Amino acid sequence: MKLELKNSLSVKLLRVVLLSALIVGVALSAAQIVFDAYKTRQAVAGDAQRILDMFRDPSTQAVYSLDREMGMQVIEGLFQDDAVRMASIGHPNETMLAEKSRALQQSPSRWLTDLILGQERTFTTSLVGKGPYSEYYGDLSITLDTATYGKGFLVSSVIIFISGVLRALAMGLVLYLVYHWLLTKPLSRIIEHLTSINPDRPSEHKIPLLKGHERNELGLWINTANQLLESIERNTHLRHEAETSLLRMAQYDFLTGLPNRQKLQEQLDKILIDAGRRQRRVAVLCVGLDDFKSVNEQFTYQAGDKLLLALADRLRAHSGRLGALARLGGDQFALVQADIDQPYEAAELAQSILDDLEAEFALEHEQIRLRATIGITLFPEDGDSTEKLLQKAEQTMTLAKSRSRNRYQFYIASVDSEMRRRRELEKDLREALNREQFHLVYQPQISYRDHRVVGVEALIRWQHPEHGLVPPDLFIPLAEQNGTIIPIGEWVLDQACRQLREWHDLGFTDLRMAVNLSTVQLHHTELPRVVNNLMQIYRLPPRSLELEVTETGLMEDISTAAQHLLSLRRSGALIAIDDFGTGYSSLSYLKSLPLDKIKIDKSFVQDLLDDDDDATIVRAIIQLGKSLGMQVIAEGVETAEQEAYIISEGCHEGQGYHYSKPLQARELAAFLKQSERNNAAIL
Ligand code: C2E
Ligand code: CA
Ligand code: CA
Repeated sequence: MKLELKNSLSVKLLRVVLLSALIVGVALSAAQIVFDAYKTRQAVAGDAQRILDMFRDPSTQAVYSLDREMGMQVIEGLFQDDAVRMASIGHPNETMLAEKSRALQQSPSRWLTDLILGQERTFTTSLVGKGPYSEYYGDLSITLDTATYGKGFLVSSVIIFISGVLRALAMGLVLYLVYHWLLTKPLSRIIEHLTSINPDRPSEHKIPLLKGHERNELGLWINTANQLLESIERNTHLRHEAETSLLRMAQYDFLTGLPNRQKLQEQLDKILIDAGRRQRRVAVLCVGLDDFKSVNEQFTYQAGDKLLLALADRLRAHSGRLGALARLGGDQFALVQADIDQPYEAAELAQSILDDLEAEFALEHEQIRLRATIGITLFPEDGDSTEKLLQKAEQTMTLAKSRSRNRYQFYIASVDSEMRRRRELEKDLREALNREQFHLVYQPQISYRDHRVVGVEALIRWQHPEHGLVPPDLFIPLAEQNGTIIPIGEWVLDQACRQLREWHDLGFTDLRMAVNLSTVQLHHTELPRVVNNLMQIYRLPPRSLELEVTETGLMEDISTAAQHLLSLRRSGALIAIDDFGTGYSSLSYLKSLPLDKIKIDKSFVQDLLDDDDDATIVRAIIQLGKSLGMQVIAEGVETAEQEAYIISEGCHEGQGYHYSKPLQARELAAFLKQSERNNAAIL
């Protein structure tokens, strides 16, 4: 707030002081003027007396000798004084011996001075003879005009009045300055300091003591105010602390210090908004302890608390993977996995928590093993809101507990069973190789130059004891994740090379074997040595083994990929790029890689007759391969029409159901013999 000057204390004081000084000045001047008027009147009388005294003797002489001429001379003498207006000598009962008068003086201030001094005043003295008898002869009488005195009186009155008023004004001004310097100025500075005080930290900025005012009321005031500000800050701080601890109590679990349900909801709200925007999945895991009640019954409640604390710590160890972790109450905890891609990531987290609980907890000299059941919901599949996801996760957990324990369960049955199957498969996959559950099938590749089988692609099959044939699209990614792809891949290579040797020995000496390589295998440094060894062991001629790699695998790191491919090539293998067209390959990168063959993905081949775009793509890929001097093969050829199109575009080879499904080794040998016979018949 800005102080207006007219409202300032010193100006107010100035006004009051000036007014009162004026009143006092005027009153005092008036008194002095009244006194002056009295004195002037006295002066008139005094002057008259003096004149009478001076002229008494000659007047007495004149009246005694009845000398008129002398009387007139005396009168003329009297009239030398300007103030004398009338004069007479004579006995009151007779005609005057001599007398004279003149008009009143003219003066503009007469009206005022006449009021105070009177217009004129007459004085008389008796003329008495000398000697013992003092005989009375008559009177000498003069009338004085007051105008001259009035002028003097007026001048001095004005001076008195003006000087009185000026004195009063000067006093008022001095008082104002003193007051301003002593009070108003220091007060304004204090106000300035007060306005710069931060209300949140009132004692941060102390009001400084003013120089020269340390010991007076102002100093005392400042000290008191500073103390007050300090205690205000102390109190605010205490209140703040109380509020935050209240807030903590409202948002965090007292025992474990983890966020409580309310806080979790807040966090999950944010996570869901973010995930919705980025189109990512979120998993909510509700963990409930199995049989926690019996722990409480068997031990003390304090022991139960300790156990919950230890459990919270174990859950915290996973917080690196978590978006939120909270205690829902009792023996129930919630974990939120933000930003996941696939449900199995949640399954893995759940399993690792269950595995984590396998380790025993030490409690009152006893070892306790805890088991838990976990309910899992997924965003957006199972619900789009915090409430729904949490509620369903808890329901799922409770439901799972009622069936069996120490396990996790997804809310959606299909997801759940798929997850379960995945995990089981993954476990089984580790054993599959040893248990000899894999075998290879082979799909022929036809050359369009002479329509003969020039190669076969080895495709792996997994015969699961319970689930039957498991498709490679399902288990290869699993094997890539858990690393079993390395031994499995080596087994495939070995098996395929051995088979090729067999067929070469049967007389199909030009036959080529194509083997699929996973990206994980490609980056495995042992691979070139393995390939080299196998080709030597099975005495395979160079260029009889073809390795199929995928675009995406190569794209990740082109320079390392190029190195790996080069060393594979040096071992005598051909390199084909599989599923071509589905990735993001560019011409420049194709040129920089040592490739022998392009394999057009089956999705383009299958639709090329219905979809102009696909036909264009197929044509472009064939052109591209040819211009780079590479072989081009089309996969997924199912009809004669498709075959006709790709042949007309100049494709070198084809593979697909149109020729044959993938076949067992024995069937393939028969297929080879049959096609040899057919060709011979045509020729
Ligand atoms: P891929 O390399 O693209 O294999 C071709 C897939 O297309 C094979 O499926 C084959 O059976 C199928 N196919 C062949 N001709 C036709 C056709 O005319 N029409 C249709 N619709 N499909 C046809 P499969 O055997 O299920 O293999 C799937 C994928 O599994 C393979 O795709 C390959 O990426 C992977 N895979 C298979 N065996 C191995 C292996 O030994 N090692 C590695 N790393 N991956 C393998
Ligand atoms: Ca392939
Ligand atoms: Ca393919």
